[in-house]
Amino acid sequence: MLGGCGRGGGHDGRVVIVGGGFAGATTARYLRRLAPRVAITLVEPNRQYHCCPFSNAVIGGLAPASTLTRDYAVLGQSGIDVVYDRAEEILHERRQVRLAGGGRIAFDRAVIAPGIRLRWGAPEGYDQAAAQRMPHAWRGGAQVARLQRALAAIADGGVVAISVPQAPFRCPPGPYERASLMAAWLHRHRPRSKLLILDSNDSFSKQSLFTHAWETLYPGVIEWRPVSEDGAVRRVDPESLTLYTEIDQYAVALANVIPPQAAGEIAERAGLSDATGWCPVDPASFESTRVPGIHVLGDACAAAPMPKSASAANSQAKLCALALAASFAGESAPPASLHNTCYSLCDVDYGISISMTYRVADGGIVPVAGAGGVSPEDAPARQRQAEARYAQGWFESITADSFGA
Ligand SMILES: Cc1cc2nc3c(=O)[nH]c(=O)nc-3n(C[C@H](O)[C@H](O)[C@H](O)COP(=O)(O)OP(=O)(O)OC[C@H]3O[C@@H](n4cnc5c(N)ncnc54)[C@H](O)[C@@H]3O)c2cc1C
Repeated sequence: MLGGCGRGGGHDGRVVIVGGGFAGATTARYLRRLAPRVAITLVEPNRQYHCCPFSNAVIGGLAPASTLTRDYAVLGQSGIDVVYDRAEEILHERRQVRLAGGGRIAFDRAVIAPGIRLRWGAPEGYDQAAAQRMPHAWRGGAQVARLQRALAAIADGGVVAISVPQAPFRCPPGPYERASLMAAWLHRHRPRSKLLILDSNDSFSKQSLFTHAWETLYPGVIEWRPVSEDGAVRRVDPESLTLYTEIDQYAVALANVIPPQAAGEIAERAGLSDATGWCPVDPASFESTRVPGIHVLGDACAAAPMPKSASAANSQAKLCALALAASFAGESAPPASLHNTCYSLCDVDYGISISMTYRVADGGIVPVAGAGGVSPEDAPARQRQAEARYAQGWFESITADSFGA
């Protein structure tokens, strides 16, 4: 059970949620249902949320950019106080969040769900200015549009490179789904072009399924260079669009550099992250193990073996909402399970997936044997088509579940 919470007039307690992504928005919506008398404030600087799931489909021309946008107005209409501002500081002792706009919000419990920050300067030379020439598109919005435009602008025969950081990072299959959908686009529109994946890892999520799709759908377009074959990009020159590994250098037509990541700035500033850059939590409630009374969810928390995904963030949020509601009611949190499903598209009608259910045991998160799996290697075309449809259905239902629209 969580520790006792203060009682205020007219409500049974106050929760401040920082960050309106999949983790924060889902917590707000579910806590609203589970604990109608708790005052909930969601702090988020943007009026609209720009999804990363399905952004690769937008970059690959399979969906319009409008697919990715969700409005916070719906949350505001359901009894959640949405404050459009940035949290600057968490004042633990006073139980207050200080906002960039100057205001302060008092809380009994805080949920910090700021997603990721990008570790600028890695690879060497990759900073905010470089990201204008070499988009990362690893956060939603303008960067996604920039990468899409850059892909559409390359000449036939031009080489596209994707630089993948060392794990862990947001969305483990994401770089390879992106490679797939960019390769599918090149195959159709720039048939002499190639795509090179320069990887700081030696293996990746759903690897054999992706590799099989690449050989089947657009043979010869994608080349994957793992870290053990000098794949890690060490330095970039944005002016000449050149990527440098230990031994080689690649001057390309388009460079998509995905930098290494860590928990969002506010989590670091609040002392919630450790030397890894991520925030350790008690998985029974996602309460920080470093700062009592503060919960950290989504990409920002260290929840391995769960991946950093929207699906995981949504599931963690529900567990946290249950734990918070129980705490405000003076009850013990019910035993809860966690879940993750990640669909990846390799082309318009070719989908693959991985899923897993987890339980909380001995202070850790443990996969439930037999309660997950990956798409079969030898699936017929109609199953890949069906999984592409399920991917679309998953996206529509998780965004409705998280944002209410
Ligand atoms: C290309 C790509 C494809 C992906 N595809 C999938 C997929 O198919 N399936 C899947 O499950 N996942 C996918 N993901 C991963 C998914 O996007 C993330 O795991 C998910 O967004 C994490 O949710 P979050 O709430 O932790 O963080 P975010 O969604 O990043 O939300 C964080 C929010 O916090 C706000 N914020 C930050 N700092 C502050 C502050 N100081 N004050 C107030 N607000 C703040 C931000 O504005 C933002 O709205 C993909 C990611 C990428 C990059």
